[in-house]
Amino acid sequence: LFLLVLPIGSALGAFVQIQAGLAALDRIQEVARLEPEAGDEDGLTPGRTASAAPEVRFDGVSFGYDDGGEPVLADLSFSVPAGSRTAIVGPSGAGKSTVLGLLERFYEPAGGTITYDGVPLTAIPRRELRSRLGLVEQEAPVLSGTLADNLRISAPDATPARMVSALESVGLGDLVERSETGLGLNLGEDGVRLSGGQRQRLAWARVLLADRPVLLMDEPTSAVDSRTEQLLQRTLSEAARSRTVVVVAHRLSTIADFDRILVMDRGRVVASGTHATLVQSSALYRDMAVRQRLVQHA
Ligand code: ATP
Repeated sequence: LFLLVLPIGSALGAFVQIQAGLAALDRIQEVARLEPEAGDEDGLTPGRTASAAPEVRFDGVSFGYDDGGEPVLADLSFSVPAGSRTAIVGPSGAGKSTVLGLLERFYEPAGGTITYDGVPLTAIPRRELRSRLGLVEQEAPVLSGTLADNLRISAPDATPARMVSALESVGLGDLVERSETGLGLNLGEDGVRLSGGQRQRLAWARVLLADRPVLLMDEPTSAVDSRTEQLLQRTLSEAARSRTVVVVAHRLSTIADFDRILVMDRGRVVASGTHATLVQSSALYRDMAVRQRLVQHA
């Protein structure tokens, strides 16, 4: 949800038409409606630095989309150590994306607490929270405009050299090289000139440029081929040195080298560990790994 950082109503917003898809637009409008909010202040919480990668923790969190309806998350507890790469995997509908939505404070838990470095999410001003999160969502919105316009959305001060380097790190260097106008390459209305995989990688380039201490990614390699997936894995491993990274993934090969993998099923964490330990300890994980041909049948 990089568009959280878009200065809605700004000069940029006035001339760059947002073609983000209805879902993303709904979300932007909802976020816009949320501010300003009582308790939100400018600036950082005293004594804290926004640039340090925080520990993220869920403590007994429950959540449902409908009041009184079926809970989607039930008494969910886990921690993501500062500066680590943690993946969330599990069957469709397990609640993985909902966890990311709660971390973005797009939804509020019905019970329990979510903390960043021990500070409850509710005590972190939204503006500060936004300045800490880099988001790559399932649907990567692209603006009608140039490559540079699309990158400046998240990093208005980025130099052309940094933009090119971010594009190269996600395998989009060719776009600039082959274009007569370089970063001025016009992506067409709604970014139609980009493939699904290119759009996804553009979203990666944006968050890398924005240099946020927390990266939240939902299916960030779903639209790329295996070779590109490997490049993105390397890029993420590099980026994670100074960041706390949480990735929701169906494609286990993307996260097999992560520090920690949480297996979710029906709103709970049912197993956790590394790829190697989970293949041994979790039937659910092993089944997914076998189906994706990452391991042989036992
Ligand atoms: P997938 O792998 O298919 O993306 P997931 O594990 O990410 O699934 P969620 O998207 O978190 O699962 O959804 C968990 C449950 O909440 C599902 O039953 C889903 O139908 C429901 N749900 C998700 N979003 C909403 C919403 N906006 N309104 C109502 N119910 C929702």
